[in-house]
Order: sequence, then structure tokens, then C-alpha cells
Amino acid sequence: MKEIKKFETESKELLNLMINSIYSNNEIFLRELISNASDAIDKYKYLSLTSKGKVPLLDHDIHIALDKKARTITISDNGIGMNKEDLMNNLGTIARSGSKDFMSKVKEAKEKGNIDIIGQFGVGFYSAFMVAKKIDVLTKTNAGPAYLFSSEGEDSYSIEEAEKDSVGTTITLYLKKSNDEINYDKYLEEYQIKDLVKRYSDYIRYPIKMLCTSYKPKLDKDGNEIKGETVEVMEEETLNSMVPLWKKNKADVTNEELNKFYKDKFMDYEDPAISLFVSVDGKITYNALLFIPSHIPYNLYSENYEKGLQLYSKGVFIKDKAPELLPDYLKFVKGLVDSPDLNLNISREILQHSPIMDKIQENVEKKVVDKLKEVLKEDKEKYSKFWKDFGEHIKYGIYSTYGGKKDLLQDILVFHSLNKNDEYITLKEYKENMAKGQKAIYFVSGENLDAIKLLPQIERYKKLGYDVLLLDQKIDEFCIMMMQNYDKTDFKSITDDATNEISKEEQETIDKVSADSKRLLDNLKESLKEEIDDVVISSKLVDSPLCLSTKDGLSLEMEKTLNEQPGNEEKVKAKKVLEINPEHDLFKAFVAIQDQDDLVKEYASVLLDEAMLLEGREIANKKEFVRKLNELMIKAFSK
Ligand code: ADP
Ligand code: MG
Repeated sequence: MKEIKKFETESKELLNLMINSIYSNNEIFLRELISNASDAIDKYKYLSLTSKGKVPLLDHDIHIALDKKARTITISDNGIGMNKEDLMNNLGTIARSGSKDFMSKVKEAKEKGNIDIIGQFGVGFYSAFMVAKKIDVLTKTNAGPAYLFSSEGEDSYSIEEAEKDSVGTTITLYLKKSNDEINYDKYLEEYQIKDLVKRYSDYIRYPIKMLCTSYKPKLDKDGNEIKGETVEVMEEETLNSMVPLWKKNKADVTNEELNKFYKDKFMDYEDPAISLFVSVDGKITYNALLFIPSHIPYNLYSENYEKGLQLYSKGVFIKDKAPELLPDYLKFVKGLVDSPDLNLNISREILQHSPIMDKIQENVEKKVVDKLKEVLKEDKEKYSKFWKDFGEHIKYGIYSTYGGKKDLLQDILVFHSLNKNDEYITLKEYKENMAKGQKAIYFVSGENLDAIKLLPQIERYKKLGYDVLLLDQKIDEFCIMMMQNYDKTDFKSITDDATNEISKEEQETIDKVSADSKRLLDNLKESLKEEIDDVVISSKLVDSPLCLSTKDGLSLEMEKTLNEQPGNEEKVKAKKVLEINPEHDLFKAFVAIQDQDDLVKEYASVLLDEAMLLEGREIANKKEFVRKLNELMIKAFSK
């Protein structure tokens, strides 16, 4: 007898969403139905294995059949099947507790016009109503009679006893009529179905079979091929490859296979720079394939770049980009994760909040860093290439966590340096090569390496033979600021006012010169007080007459970077100190006129501008600088 039943309220809402969905990604229905079939087979297998022989073992497969005339797609499995209660509970009601959450998310997303979210969740059986106007489910369990569940979505469904020989479920979708907006007929095309299975369900562990058209050479009556003539035959094909690359034995997967996989899957024309096969079996279990591209993805810096790894559970594709699986600073990493631990949770819980996802992220992060360490140790050239492309992100990892990731990342940082020139060095190497008595790790920042090498402060370190890290990226100093030290040795900026590598005697000389030229220094300071915090006799210079150092950790380069940030209304200002080389003739010339306060004051700004230029900076008032310079030349030449 045919019984008509009403869907539960919640189901009705979800159905409504699906039926009225103009969701462009409606193709996911196939993935959902295949995944249900695969789950049902898993359950049957478990049942027969634990039934002590009462439930026979079977060969399992999933069949897809297309009928263009009737406009139907049929998906059959020989899995566990459903009895009447199962049909009511599983298909008449939303079986999953998380679905309510999901629905509100979808509704919210729909209101905002963002319907893409549907594809990210296991929306399950009802997703078939995105493409079907009517669905029949003919199903039989191992024990009871067969039932036919039938529904046109709306608000009710019918259940009646039916005929079916074997255990399992056959689902028939009666496709909606195509319209101007959406083409449903494409799902009746073999190649479409093949493509969808390859894309979404390739690694389902049971064969997914379909009768497919193929062309065979025509034979004459003696059984010989007739050249150039073919006949159309229907043959059953298995559409999925079943064994995912990442489920294979690590040792059996070659680098070539990994490279090919990467290029196919992530649509890159170049082999990855670094590939990583991860297989973790412990508190959490997962397999992952991770790749670092050999060039910067073209859209990495665009706003719509989405970080994330593909997510699978037991070979069932769940999501294309799960951002929860990667920390921000590794956003350039591509790859996929497959974890059986996620299976139960995936449709029941909203993915983002799953603690398993956090654990996998942590683990993936560690694996990537370990791999980078290994490459750095074994192939510095390769590492240098990686660093040029993505080094900034690693430094950002330290900066953005306020140093929280210092211990994890500090040994994969590399820098240019004064002594090494073109080759990158690690902090460990820097420390090992420190000179006797050298107290700190010295660094200096600037626009680019050439500009940095011209800085007046460098001269002294060259003379001493101390190495200096040359920082040419904006993020560098901010990263170092967060680190503070490396292996108990402090970082010090050579353009910092307080950084001095001098002996007691040298200090005494400087103190004496400072005292002798107090009137000069005070006058300069007074004239430049708007721009400058202090004017001092320098211990930093060798050949250059002047330099500009900064106080309290904010360097000129940082000042520039911060003020360039969009939205920073209030400009920051580095505390600047004008330093004068006491050995230079310029200083001696000023000492000679130190009694003439007005003259000193008149040309104070030229000293500051000179120092700014030597630091590779813009000067504030170019016109004034030119005027004064000309004045001096005219005076000198007309003598
Ligand atoms: P989920 O698979 O996440 O549980 P679905 O909406 O896809 O949610 O399916 C709901 C339920 O219907 C499943 O949990 C299962 O119990 C039942 N079901 C769906 N398809 C099949 C099938 N082919 N064979 C047996 N049971 C099925
Ligand atoms: Mg499902």
C-alpha cells in the first residue's frame, strides 16, 4: 500500500533551498550520491564481516546508467539498503544534527548573494533536487522486503513496498527541464559524467561503472578487421581509478608521479619546486601531498587569492580549498589532505570549528618547515630560489605572531650579508663566523642592496671585518624586532644611535671632542630641533662626513614603510640623531667657525640634508638646499 508522508519542517526548508537553487555548481549532486553509495557499501561490508557468516560477502560496485529518452540518471549500489524506518528517518528527516546550522549558513549566504558555499558542505541526498524534479529510491536491505520511496521535493514523499531482487539501493533522478539559465541535459552525456566522476570521486574505493560507447574495428565474415570501418559498441567501463596517489606506499610513488599529479591537479605548467608526501598515523591520521610552486602564483598577492588545501575524507572529495589547513604565512603552499578522522564529523559539524582540522594544520605546518630545513641543508641553491619567491612570507610568520613562531622558523631564515655578498647566510652561520669580542648580530636596512652598501655606517664594520645582515625587504626589520635575539645573541641595528663597537680609549677621545665642540653642537642642535633629536660626535664613521642614526628602535626604513601603509592617518616619526665624523675636514671647517653662531645656524640644514642624502633618503626642502649650495659655490669661486 502506498503511504503519503510529509517531510519534517527542517527538511522542507532545506529542500526548498535546493529546489530553488540557481546554484551554478549543481554538479556536486553526483559526488553526494556516489559518496552515499560508497558509505552504504562500507556499512554492508562491516555488517557481513561481523555477522559470523549470516550476511554473505559480496563484490561491491556502483553503477551509473543514463537514459536520454526518459531523461533519467540512475545510481545503484549493492550496499546496506534501507528499510521503511530508515527511509523515513534518513530521507524524510534531516538525519544530521549539523544541518540546521548549515541551513542558516546557506540562507545567510544566499541573502548576501554568495551561494557558492553550498558546494563546501556535504549537503547530502537533498542536493539531488537541484537537478531532479522527481527522485525514486528503490531499496532493499539484507533482511526485509524492498521499498520504493518517491518524491517530487515539494512537501511530501510516498513509500510503498516494491520488487527488488538484490540488496542495495537504486536511485533514479528525473532531470528538470533545461532552461535559458541552466542546462540539465548535460548530465545525460557520457563524457560529462565521466568528467564529474574523475573530478570528484576518482578515489572512491569501489569501482564506479557505466556503460560507455566505444568504437571497434568492423570485422568481415571471416573475423578480419575491415580497414577504416568501425562499429559502435556499448561496453562497461570503470570510471574511477580507486587508489589515490596519496594512499599508496610512500616508497612506491616516484617524483615524476608527484610532479605530474601536481601539474594536473593544480593547473601549473611547471613542476613544483618542492614536493612532500606526508603520511601520519598517530593521534590523528591523515595523508597529505604538499607542494611549493617553483614560481609565485600569479594571483598570490591579489585580494581574491584563496589559500587552503583540498580536503578529502577516505578518498571522498569534500572541499577544494580548506583554509583551516594552512597558517596564513604558508598560503603559497598547495596540496591536499585526506583524513579518515573527519568522516563522521564532516557533514555533522561545521568544518571550521573542528579541532581535528586544527591539529592537522599544526602538523602540516611542521612538516613543511621540516622539509624546508632539509632543503636548506642539502640544496642551498634550490633554497635560495625558494627564498626569493616566498621568504617574505616566512618572515611574516614570525612578525604576525608577535614572535610566537620564532623557535619554529628562525633556522629557516636566510639573509644577505656584507661579507657573503651574493650568497644567503643563516643566523647560525652568522653566529659561527662572528669575530672575537663581537657582541651582537648586526643588521642594517634599506631600499635595496646597492643602496644599503653605500650607507656611511657600513664603513666601520667593513674595517672591523664584522659581518652585517643586509635587510632589503620591508618586513625584515619588523620580523627582527619581534625576534629580539637569536640563540641568546641580540640583534642590533648599525644605524641605531646606541649601537657602538668602540674601545674605552676611543670613547674617551669622543667625549673630549664633544666637550671641546660643545658650542658648535648646541648651535646645530638648536637650529635643527624641528627635525632632529640630537647632534653628536660619531664613532660610527670612517670616510663619510656625516650619518643619520635613529633612536628607540624605529629606523628610517621602518618609518617609511609604516607611513606608506594605506589608512595610516597619523604618520610615525623616527627619532633622528645627526652624527658627525670628527676626523673629517668638514667637521674641522665647522670647528673653525664655531664662534660665528649665525653662520653655523645658516648652514646647519645643509649638514642634515647631506646626511639624509647619504642615507638614501629624500630631503625635505630641495629648493633651500640648492640655494645654499649655490651660495657657497659662488662665494668660493669668486674669491
Ligand atoms: P549523510 O550521507 O551525510 O549522512 P545524506 O543526506 O547524504 O547525509 O544521506 C542521509 C542518509 O540517508 C545517510 O546517512 C544514509 O543513512 C541514508 N542513505 C542515503 N543514500 C543511501 C544509500 N545509497 N544506501 C543506503 N543508505 C543511504
Ligand atoms: Mg551523504
